[in-house]
Amino acid sequence: MPIFEFQCEECGEIFEELVFGGNVKEVICKKCKSPKVKKLISQVAFRSGNKFVSASGSSCSTCKAGTCSSCN
Ligand SMILES: [Zn+2]
Repeated sequence: MPIFEFQCEECGEIFEELVFGGNVKEVICKKCKSPKVKKLISQVAFRSGNKFVSASGSSCSTCKAGTCSSCN
C-alpha cells in the first residue's frame, strides 16, 4: 500500500495517509480536518511490519542513505 506522510499547515499535525491514484488533493488533516496539508516525503513508502521500508530497499525511514545512528 502506498503511504505518504503529511503535515498539516494549520495545526502542524503529522500523519500518514494512504493515497490512491495520486489523489493528494483529497487528503485532509486527521486532527483539524484542514485541507491545507503538505506531503513530507516524495518517495512512496511501504509498511513492513512496524517499520517503514522505502521502495528503494532502505530500511531507514529517517534518512535516505540508511546509515544514520537509528538505522539497523
Ligand atoms: Zn490540522
